[in-house]
Amino acid sequence: AKRSGKHLVKLYEPSMVDRRARDGVLAELLGDALHAGELQVVYQPLVDLSDGRPVGVEALVRWHHRDLGPVSPMEFIPVAERTGMITTLGLWVLEEACRQVRAWQLRRPGCRIYASVNISPRQLQEPTLVGDVLAVLSRTGLPATDLVLEITESAIVDEHAAVPALADLRAHGVRIAIDDFGTGYSSLQYLTRLPVDVLKIDRSFVSQLDSTPEGAAVAEAVIRLGQVLGLRTIAEGIETPAQAAELQLLGCGHGQGYLFARPMPAADLDDMMGTAPIR
Ligand code: C2E
Ligand code: CA
Ligand code: CA
Ligand code: CA
Repeated sequence: AKRSGKHLVKLYEPSMVDRRARDGVLAELLGDALHAGELQVVYQPLVDLSDGRPVGVEALVRWHHRDLGPVSPMEFIPVAERTGMITTLGLWVLEEACRQVRAWQLRRPGCRIYASVNISPRQLQEPTLVGDVLAVLSRTGLPATDLVLEITESAIVDEHAAVPALADLRAHGVRIAIDDFGTGYSSLQYLTRLPVDVLKIDRSFVSQLDSTPEGAAVAEAVIRLGQVLGLRTIAEGIETPAQAAELQLLGCGHGQGYLFARPMPAADLDDMMGTAPIR
């Protein structure tokens, strides 16, 4: 066993062994993170590009472990996916976000900002997803029409079982966004068949918008595609005024990015969540 163990280790690059060891540790620590109060939901405003007013917020989870410090969701979400923890974690984020956005809505009469929440591929496979989402909406009082679920392209295409669930949620008024659009799948045919309302233009295209003709071309193509199919487009990762101006010129409705605001704890957004433009 000793020999084969050594042999096994040799098959992998050292960095890969480190990676696996750390993932194992993260998986174990993540099991307690929720109960230990180490997780937090932060919110990044989504703005109307024509006037800079906040129209919604994307909920993003944060993990601060007392020994490891902050761990990026890019690192722990895939771990949570593998262990199945994402189901519990994802529902917790959903409920936090719906409760928070409802609180903002109630604080300011006429405020109809929406909550946009990431749903991982594994969550989409859960047979209880529709019931769980509807239960959260009823517990928190957030209208279904003020909830957007962000789903990645590959998840929606791979998991055909998810399509009826998404259609069901949509029939209740919940909107479905395709996250990181343009990075996942080669065929666009599925777009005409799937229950989708919003395309989120991936940051990789937005960041090339004012530097390469190719980036601008892809962003423009996605916006045109959205217009033809009757879908709203949202651009993510807007960092410069030039990018915002270009996207608006191309007809992109909403956007988010460091130019407007970073993801922040809810309390830091209280003042912003009225009707005033961010810039
Ligand atoms: P995402 O869904 O594509 O979220 C957007 C990411 O871009 C966020 O990173 C956000 O902080 C970052 N971002 C926003 N504006 C800018 C900008 O102007 N410039 C740059 N450089 N970055 C910007 P974050 O919060 O680290 O999250 C990373 C990913 O982790 C998310 O990508 C999402 O895939 C996943 N994630 C985060 N929270 C959740 C969650 O609650 N559930 C699930 N399933 N996944 C989550
Ligand atoms: Ca997202
Ligand atoms: Ca995204
Ligand atoms: Ca992205």
